[in-house]
Amino acid sequence: MVRAEKRNSTLLPSPACGRGAGGEGASTKGIPRADAPSPSPLPQAGEGRASADQIWSWLADVPDPEIPVVSVVDLGIVRAVEWEGDDLVVTLTPTYSGCPATAVIAFDVAEALRRRGINSVRTKSRLSPAWTTDWIGETAREKLKAYGIAPPAGGARCVGDLKNPIVECPRCGSTATEQVSRFGSTPCKASWRCRDCLEPFDYFKSF
Ligand SMILES: [Zn+2]
Repeated sequence: MVRAEKRNSTLLPSPACGRGAGGEGASTKGIPRADAPSPSPLPQAGEGRASADQIWSWLADVPDPEIPVVSVVDLGIVRAVEWEGDDLVVTLTPTYSGCPATAVIAFDVAEALRRRGINSVRTKSRLSPAWTTDWIGETAREKLKAYGIAPPAGGARCVGDLKNPIVECPRCGSTATEQVSRFGSTPCKASWRCRDCLEPFDYFKSF
């Protein structure tokens, strides 16, 4: 008696699935699937390699270690993805030099891609041009606000000057706010307070 549970090696969903009689050979008829299939087919080196768009969308799910509500793509930390032979090279620009999260980000990025079946990932740092808070996209600014962090003022959207920014309270929107301390919960943030709703909040410093 042979246990007829040989599964197809491809994990691509078949549109014909579930219609008609049990497929060719009908060998799996009546045998319940023991395990769920992988969510997506894994790219192998050389064949069916993941596209850059696909990789970008995977990286868009990698949270920033310090502010997990935004991803490393939202923050503009991921600068480039490219295949070099069988290696996937991901270029990262740290938010500021000496940021303690940089090593963690490189690790998380490589790990997220390994989970998608890309085993040969190299990350490299690009320090120039230096990262600026202007690279934080609009969606990320909204996410920061919803999380209670005032997004950076400055650059193109500068109201006031960089040393004396006008910071909007993420809770009530008031600009009657003041800095309590130059240092917040992480080095890239400062502690602020709203004079209207009296709530303290973190401000993502502009640079
Ligand atoms: Zn407020």
